[in-house]
Amino acid sequence: MTKYPEFLNDLIRAGKLDNSLSYKPDDNFFIGDKKVGEDFFVIGGPCSVEGKEMIINSALSIKNSGGDALRGGAYKPCTYPVKNNINGWKEGMQEKGLELLKEARKASGLEIVSEIMEPKQLEIAYDAIDIIQVGTRNFQNYSLLDELANQEKPVILKRGTWATIEEILGAAERLLSSKLRKVCICLRGVIGAPPYRHIYKSTRWQPDIMMICALKELCTIPVIYDPSHATGKSSFVKSISLAANVAGADGLIIEAHPDPQKSISDPDQAISFNEFGEIIKLCKKSQSLIR
Ligand code: PEP
Ligand code: MN
Repeated sequence: MTKYPEFLNDLIRAGKLDNSLSYKPDDNFFIGDKKVGEDFFVIGGPCSVEGKEMIINSALSIKNSGGDALRGGAYKPCTYPVKNNINGWKEGMQEKGLELLKEARKASGLEIVSEIMEPKQLEIAYDAIDIIQVGTRNFQNYSLLDELANQEKPVILKRGTWATIEEILGAAERLLSSKLRKVCICLRGVIGAPPYRHIYKSTRWQPDIMMICALKELCTIPVIYDPSHATGKSSFVKSISLAANVAGADGLIIEAHPDPQKSISDPDQAISFNEFGEIIKLCKKSQSLIR
C-alpha cells in the first residue's frame, strides 16, 4: 500500500482527494496502439497548425518517425497579443485549423492532440480532436475543467508553471470527479529562479523532472513530459526527453516542425522530424534498461 506523506493524508482525511490518488488508467485508454500507463508513447508535431500542406506533411513525418499521435494547436494562447494575420494564422488558425487537423488525421491515421482554451470551444472542436489538451495557462480554469470532467474524451492536463503537487492533484481530482476516465498529467517546466530562467532568452522555464518521480510515488495517474516547453531550446530537447524517459515518464509530447526555425510559434524549441525519430529510437533503447 502507498504510504502517503502527512500533507496528503490530511487532504484525504478532509475528503479533498480520492479519485486522483486511486485512479487507474481506463482499460481502453490507448494513444495509437499504445496502452496508456503501460506502453511508452510519443506524441509529436508543430506548436501550431500553419497550413494544409504543412500539417499533412507533419502528420506523415511524425508517423514515419514512429510517433503515436499528432499534436498541433488550432487555438494558440500567445504571451503577447498577435496583431497581424499571417496567412490565416492569428493566435492559431482556429476553426480553419481544426478542419486541417481532420485532414491530417485522415491522411496519416494518427490521433489528434490539440488545445481548447474555454468551454465553448469543446463543442466546436469535438470532431477534430481525439485527445484534448488543457494548456498551462488554463490548468486552474475550473469552468473548463468541470466541462471536460463531464465528457469522456481523453484529456492531457498541462501543469501550471506555478503549481504545487497539491494543486496538480487537485486539478486532476476535478477532472476525475464525473464521467471522464482518461487523464494524463503533462509536466512542461515551471518558474525557475531568475538567473536560471535567463541562461538563454528562450529558456523561460525550469525542467521539472523530479515531479515525475514524486507523482509516480503518490498516485497512479499517467505522467507525460513536454521537453519542448520545459527547455525552450531545440538543442536541449533530446537530453531532457531522455531524462524524463529514464525518470519514469509514461510518454512524451514534443514539438517538431518541417522547417523548425520558421515555426510561427515557438521556433526556438522546435526540432526536425529526423531529430524526433532519433529521440524515439533512443527512448526505445533506454526503455529496456529501466523497465
Ligand atoms: C503548447 O503545447 O503549445 C503550449 C502552449 O503549451 P503550454 O500550455 O504548456 O505552454
Ligand atoms: Mn508551443
